[in-house]
Amino acid sequence: MAISFDLTGKRALVTGANTGIGQAIAVALADAGADVALAGRSAPAETLALIAATGRKAVDIRADLSSIAPVQGLVDETVAALGGLDILVNNAGIIRRNDLADFTEEDWDAVVDTNLKTLFFLSQAAARVMMRQASGKIINIASLLSFQGGIRVPSYAAAKSGVAGLTKALANELAPAGVQVNAIAPGYIATNNTAALQADEVRNRQIMERIPTGRWGKPEDIAGAAVFLASPASDYVTGHVLAVDGGWLAR
Ligand code: NAP
Repeated sequence: MAISFDLTGKRALVTGANTGIGQAIAVALADAGADVALAGRSAPAETLALIAATGRKAVDIRADLSSIAPVQGLVDETVAALGGLDILVNNAGIIRRNDLADFTEEDWDAVVDTNLKTLFFLSQAAARVMMRQASGKIINIASLLSFQGGIRVPSYAAAKSGVAGLTKALANELAPAGVQVNAIAPGYIATNNTAALQADEVRNRQIMERIPTGRWGKPEDIAGAAVFLASPASDYVTGHVLAVDGGWLAR
């Protein structure tokens, strides 16, 4: 049997695809043959152009994922625009940094709502479609802080640890329906999310010293894992959190 990473004819929904990791994943899925709905609160002009160059279809669906209000509409619009939904990438996420003593309820709720609550309810809405068609792939963007505590980011560590747990919980429930649920835990990737760390000389040096590969990751470094987890090649992989971290966790 030939191993297939081909996504021709597949329909994908990627959240937070205007920039960073989400953009790299959306373009890679299109490169592999998928049509892609780009869901987010900012215009994904660059991503639309990059996907147009692959010859695949991309649609822009504007949604603020800080609450679950838009999730059902997002799935409905994707199905209407692309003719179905085979792949969901839960990528949109935020981070808030502060000392424990100063950490606010707002910084707790904003991160947990966007990174965990919306991810769950969007997965639920997508899973209803995937269960009906008896196939589908859900890919959650987790973090090294799905395994570790991090520094000054308690709501992010809690939410991303929750993402790892939810990945396994949903994988168990959806496996009999032919739907696989996995997560990617990116290492330190140079994006807006990590701009403050890159700019902090001390933290930047500490981070670099621990990465065996000896460099920050690029958004494109995450794309291969996403294509694998979206493709038939990973049909027997479910409930897994795949670190793509230049070796950070191996240290
Ligand atoms: P990024 O460049 O800041 O991208 C975050 C994306 O999420 C953007 O598209 C952003 O849209 C979107 N988003 C945030 N809040 C949203 C909301 N309320 N509604 C809709 N979209 C929203 O950072 P990134 O590094 O690519 O992050 C992507 C994912 O990877 C996140 O889940 C992050 O936690 C995770 N991650 C990143 C790293 C890293 O080192 N960079 C490591 C581990 C995990 P706007 O442009 O409109 O804000």
